[in-house]
Amino acid sequence: SSAPNSGFFGHPKGLSTLFFTEMWERMSYYGMRALLVLFMTASLQQEGLGFTVASAAAIYGLYTGAVYFLGLPGGWLADRLFGGQKAVWYGGIVIMCGHIILAIPHEHSFFIGLVFVAIGTGLLKPNISAMVGQLYSSEDERRDSGYAIYYMGINLGSIIGYYVCGYFMENVGWHWAFGAAAVGMGIGLIQYHFTLKNLPEHSAKPANPLTPQGTTRAWACIAAFVVTVAGIVVAAATGALIINPVVIAGYVAIVFTAIFFAYFGIIYFKGQLSDDEKRRMWALFLVCVASACFWSGFEQAGSSLNLFTRDYTDRLVGSFEIPTAWFQSLNAIFIIVLSPFFAALWINLAKRMITPSYSVKCAIGLIIMASGFLVMFMAAQYAAEGLKVAPYWLVTTYFLHTVGELCLSPVALSAVSRLSPPRFSGQMMGVFVLTYSIGNIIAGLLAGGFDPNNVDEIPYLYLQIALFSIGVGIVLVLLSSKAKIWEKRGLTSTS
Ligand code: GLN
Repeated sequence: SSAPNSGFFGHPKGLSTLFFTEMWERMSYYGMRALLVLFMTASLQQEGLGFTVASAAAIYGLYTGAVYFLGLPGGWLADRLFGGQKAVWYGGIVIMCGHIILAIPHEHSFFIGLVFVAIGTGLLKPNISAMVGQLYSSEDERRDSGYAIYYMGINLGSIIGYYVCGYFMENVGWHWAFGAAAVGMGIGLIQYHFTLKNLPEHSAKPANPLTPQGTTRAWACIAAFVVTVAGIVVAAATGALIINPVVIAGYVAIVFTAIFFAYFGIIYFKGQLSDDEKRRMWALFLVCVASACFWSGFEQAGSSLNLFTRDYTDRLVGSFEIPTAWFQSLNAIFIIVLSPFFAALWINLAKRMITPSYSVKCAIGLIIMASGFLVMFMAAQYAAEGLKVAPYWLVTTYFLHTVGELCLSPVALSAVSRLSPPRFSGQMMGVFVLTYSIGNIIAGLLAGGFDPNNVDEIPYLYLQIALFSIGVGIVLVLLSSKAKIWEKRGLTSTS
């Protein structure tokens, strides 16, 4: 069921539909996310919410964790009720509504808006990622480079988001910035609507539809979920329910990890998988472990690395002080610059019959990311001596983090789409996206160890992250001969 060849850089036309939809969705997601902590911690006079840094950071962690956690039900709904195409469409609409609500300057609009964005992203994100893979047959060699192109769309979107929403925030006001995110998602939806015809037909229907009774039950669950969420929001808004975000975040990390194992296990044991499918699930498990570890380190960017930039980096160039936030866009810029090299690298390796297993690529990504933290270990030692370090320490770290990300993240997406049992493609992408969620929350908890009153400890926070990731990377490399058999890649790629 692979789509026609020509269309978008030698890829199926549907890739362009998904590229631009995800680009605009990510524009709205990252554009808003960049402002989130700033908005929460800004004082009431500055028209912010006046939260403490601790609760703002916990809410930020819970929000990003929830966004990706909801990919699990989102993937299930696509596989069983909506089909991928509709899931992405409804998800985009819910996201846009969320940003519109955030744009309304009202004391209750903030949490309600966040809930909408999280639910919508859960519907959209795993399913759009799974649909990219459905453009290719299982023998199609272009899958990996298709994901690499798609990944560029993600980062192009985030750059647009940082600059557009950042501009509106500084020059007009918070709510205009949120409104800009809504407009971005709106453009993405219009584009999606008019180019939907390029997507493979089968993604219009659920891969494994429910029985009529099952459908009724699913709708009842959706209704119950909506009522419960609305109840919690109302209770929190009226003060009947007092939520302590810092306490909750700690438990949520454990619960999400448990849910990951449970869901994975249920598909493995109860999914009536063939032996081949089960072997591929083992290969996928390694990819998921690598992914969760990777994001736990990588996502320090928004928290501890951001604070390091602000407090311990000499950002003065002549009389100009580089704004702290600018460092956040380095990752996306490096992705755009480096992606073409990576796409070419995998193709060249494949031509030489060098096809490292997915988990080896992920392990290499993990180790390169970790080396970025070794750089920070050194930089933080200067900071501990009371010096401000030069910006190139962080630039080097972000560079290494991005190289690591390109070895791991698009590769992992491709692996999930290639190795998942087709009946579970949306759900497995949901399980995979859960590793983003776990990574984001653990990153938040680790960043809690970044204590400005205890600068001497900061180098060891970074060393600890580096050594842990290198350790996991080495274990994955040692398992590589097994992984190769589990993935059975050699059989399809050499013909
Ligand atoms: N930048 C990637 C994306 O938005 C990965 C996000 C993540 O936190 N894992 O898809």
